[in-house]
Parts: sequence; C-alpha cells; structure tokens
Amino acid sequence: MNFKISESGYYGEFGGSYIPELLLPNIEELKSAFKRIVESTSFQRDFSKLLKEYVGRPTPLYYARRLSAHYNTNIYLKREDLCHTGAHKINNTIGQILLAQEMNKKRIIAETGAGQHGVATATVCALMGLKCIVYMGEVDMERQAPNVKRMQMLGAEVRAVHSGTKTLKDATNEAIRDWINHPEETYYLIGSVVGPHPYPHIVSIFQSVIGDEIKKQLQQSPDYILACVGGGSNAIGAFYPFLDDETVKLIGVEAAGLGLQSGKTAATLTLGSTGVLHGSKSKLIQTEDGQVVEPYSISAGLDYPGVGPVHAFLDQCGRVEYKNATDEEALIAAGLLTRLEGIIPALESAHAFAALEKINPLADENIVVNLSGRGDKDMETYQQKLKF
Ligand SMILES: *Cc1c(COP(=O)(O)O)cnc(C)c1O
Repeated sequence: MNFKISESGYYGEFGGSYIPELLLPNIEELKSAFKRIVESTSFQRDFSKLLKEYVGRPTPLYYARRLSAHYNTNIYLKREDLCHTGAHKINNTIGQILLAQEMNKKRIIAETGAGQHGVATATVCALMGLKCIVYMGEVDMERQAPNVKRMQMLGAEVRAVHSGTKTLKDATNEAIRDWINHPEETYYLIGSVVGPHPYPHIVSIFQSVIGDEIKKQLQQSPDYILACVGGGSNAIGAFYPFLDDETVKLIGVEAAGLGLQSGKTAATLTLGSTGVLHGSKSKLIQTEDGQVVEPYSISAGLDYPGVGPVHAFLDQCGRVEYKNATDEEALIAAGLLTRLEGIIPALESAHAFAALEKINPLADENIVVNLSGRGDKDMETYQQKLKF
C-alpha cells in the first residue's frame, strides 16, 4: 500500500498540526530534533540499550498452545505485558525522554487518564533525573488512586484538574496550557499516536519495535495481527512493519463499552465523525454541534474520545479492519486466556482477545495477538465482574 506521511504531517486527510500559534516554534524544534536523532547512531545505540537492559526487550513471542487448541488455529502472544512497568507504554516514553535530553529540556509534562502513561513518564523521569509534572482529572485521580501513588513515589508532581468533566480531555487541555506558558524549558511527552504532528509519527516509530520483533521472531508473515486500539499506539507499533505486506490481515479492536447503541462506548472509528481533537484531525465521537462526547469503556486505557489520525486513515483506505468488543466480551476473553494459559491480561488487551471470536482463521494459519499489558491494575474490576 502507499503508506506515507506528508511533510506537514497528514495521512491522507487526517493528522496535521492544529495548535495555537505560540507553540509553532516548539513544534518546529521537535521536528528537527527528531529528524536529527532518528538518523544518529548514538541515539539508536542508547535507545536499543535501554530497551534491552531496562525495559527487558525483546519481549517473547509465545506460542499459546491451549488457546490455539481452543480456537483450532495457531495463536502467538506478543508479550508486552512483560515490559518494565507492565505495558508497551514504556517503549515510547524511553524514546521521548532521550529526545527531550537531546533538546536539552529539563522539565517534562504529561497528561494521563488511567495513570498508565503517567507512570511510564514518571518512571523515565526518575531514570534520567528530570522534573516531572503529570496533569490528571480529579475524577480519574480517585478512580486510579494506586497509579497516583506510584507516580508520587517516583517523584512526579501530580496536578489535579478540576475543570470540565475532570477527566482525560480536561487534563490534556491543562497540559497544553502549561506548555504554552513555559515553552522554552518544557518537553510535552504524549503517550499515544495522537496530538499535533510530529507526535503521531514519533510515537509510531518508537512503538514499531513491537512489530520489528514480531517479524524476526515469527520468521514468516503472520496471517493476522490483532491489537486493541485506544489512541492506537500498541496497534500501530505491531502493524507498522507489515503495512506493505497485504497478505497480513491487520485487525484493530476498539472498546464498544456497553454496546454500540448504548451511548456508553468508545468505538470511535465505528461511530465517530471527522473533527479536530488534541491538535490533529481525526475521527472522534461528537454531538451534531461538535461537542466531544464523554467516552466509556470498562478499560480506562481505551476510554478515549478520539483515535490517532493514522488509524482514521488506515480505516478509510481499508488496509486495517476495525472491529469492536464490549465490556462483557472483553471480560469473557480475559477469563478464557487466564484459565487456558495462566496469563492475566490488562482489560485493554482483553479486547484484542475478544476479537478471536469474530474472525474465522484456518487450522494452519498463524495469528499474533498483541498482549499490550498485564492485568494487575485491573484485579478489582475482574473480581467484581467475574465474581471469584
Ligand atoms: C494505554 C494502554 C492501551 C491503549 O493505548 P494505545 O495507545 O491504544 O496502545 C492499551 N493497552 C494497555 C495495557 C495500556 O496501558
């Protein structure tokens, strides 16, 4: 396929950089620093070394024997759950913290919803000895109290956001406001393939280590790759090196929440329309007059009203098929994986496993499921819902 990002950051009609003029110099600075470092061997060396020795890469590609027998096909799990801090998010924060250092920025800001990206950011700031401020909605701080504690123990300042619905989109607004007020010394560390150009591209490249490893480990093209989609970073990371190989069926799985018709959902690509959110043009769930609708999913990491512009593009051109799974379907899939393989997945990742029910693979086909994170953080929900 003809997959290319334009000079101004568009994938087809999606992407771009919709930001206040005051931030234009920051975006230009970021673009040129990224260009410089991706081509430099010293960056490649530092990034690989940290991924290997600190994150624990390469993560295994595990042949799931009993799950394969259950579905009468061959299923491999890409074990991002075994990364340091328990999910793929650290791949990106390691890359961006090196970028921040290259740009000589001493103050790191981020926003977080579930707290997973906040923890991954606080982790790399501790590692590098940099100041870290994380914006988080007041409601999310209550819902995700253990992650707030983790960030604080790591030395980050967690700033409560009291505006709007006191959730992720309000935290994002606050982070952008901070960036406008302290443009010189601040690096804004974004956690998924969202935000103004060049962030979606930068995060895609850093996360594509997942797909590069799958390619090496499987030694042949898989027939399917399945990944959950919140903003879309673990999915594009797994898909990226396979986009040109049309024999590989790529499937992104969004959270349908209580169901597509329920009004409580996060299935952005299925239900959304084109609009601008968080600095780029993509699909989002909005009312007729353009108000962002508060999304819902049982999994906090998929509970995002938008989706990365690269996914809006891949959906439109048909290269990736986007399915969705409800809370209920994800819970069942999590229970099944746990009992068949002894692996408790993150609720987000469980949505990718739920899609195994919605494809019809042949007995000799190979499926890779990206297991984006581990379920420790979700134990309370699992216990309540699965009743054990
Ligand atoms: C944050 C998170 C996600 C969703 O983010 P993407 O950018 O869509 O990958 C998925 N899985 C886990 C475990 C997460 O922590």
